[in-house]
Amino acid sequence: MSLDLVGVLRSAGLVVTATPGWAQRGVRGTPPAPVGVLNHHTASSSSERNPAPSVQLTIKGRSDLDGPLCHIVIGADGTSHIIAAGRANHAGRAKASGPNPAGDGNTLYLGVEWDYDGTHPPNSAQYNAAVRVNAVLLRHLGRPAEAARGHKETSTTGKWDPGYVDMDRFRADVARAMSGDTDMNLNDEFTDWAGTTKTVQGLFNDLDQRIAALHHVFLKPGAEPSRIPGDKNRTNLRDAIMDTTAKVVGAGGETPPQPVPPVPLPTPVPENQPTPEPAPVEPAPVEPVPEAPPAAQAPTDTPAPKPSRKPGRTVAAGGAAGAVGTVAVWIASLYGVQMPEPVAASIVLVLSAGMSYFVPDRQEAQQ
Ligand SMILES: [Zn+2]
Repeated sequence: MSLDLVGVLRSAGLVVTATPGWAQRGVRGTPPAPVGVLNHHTASSSSERNPAPSVQLTIKGRSDLDGPLCHIVIGADGTSHIIAAGRANHAGRAKASGPNPAGDGNTLYLGVEWDYDGTHPPNSAQYNAAVRVNAVLLRHLGRPAEAARGHKETSTTGKWDPGYVDMDRFRADVARAMSGDTDMNLNDEFTDWAGTTKTVQGLFNDLDQRIAALHHVFLKPGAEPSRIPGDKNRTNLRDAIMDTTAKVVGAGGETPPQPVPPVPLPTPVPENQPTPEPAPVEPAPVEPVPEAPPAAQAPTDTPAPKPSRKPGRTVAAGGAAGAVGTVAVWIASLYGVQMPEPVAASIVLVLSAGMSYFVPDRQEAQQ
């Protein structure tokens, strides 16, 4: 057979990998005189990482069946691997199907293996590559789209491949591709508004993801009825966005916000005040003294006194509060009363808060 599979598919813009020796590869027997294309699945699990795991198997064959086992393997990434130009063991006996007669399937058909396991539909990259491969080959053979068949349509032994492919729909897609309605193919690249180069397929995948995310927001189980009166939807866009944003920004997901534990204030004890306990204590935080307006500033060494606060008295009050608190804890300990941590902390906290109000500014106290 003299069909230049590599040249024909490449000139149609398909992504093609020629396996070494493909042009001479074939099993003995009548050379193919194809009137159609027969489509199969390999039953192998292909993936993004390993899109065409069956290439070597289809070249070498199995213990019970000599290779090559097809002419073309289409990977999950849409790449066409050219396996053989000669006769291949892929079809067995064929019953009449569509416009194609019954007979020796390996003579009547070019065999195209779609590399997927057949237990789920092929992905769109693989499906669309198969549509184009069938269209290009049939146009080259001068045959109609109806001549594209599935093994499950010609098999006399109950084959069911390619699995999860509706062959009537597939032929309709092949017919559309053959009619020249190929303005843009899924593998074609274009540059989007942001200057990013992507394929049509990639764009669809992005859109799919975003739509799925929106569906999740709007239709997830437990979505609330819309807060807009009369709106029959489960929620509304504003609420959905605000609720989702609140979760993302850190309201802690589904859990209610936790109360912030109180930060214990340092226990301020004025200098020169005797304390019954030798516990080291921190001085009160220095409160910045607001500057008086420059016009009112008297050019003297003594600052203007603050009439509302009397240093002597507030120092005494602060010292007394600190002393009382510390003594209370100390006396309790003498009587063997172990104050629970929260109670002791509360006492210190309350006294500290009171003292931090009464204790004068450091500068003021030092005057
Ligand atoms: Zn098959």
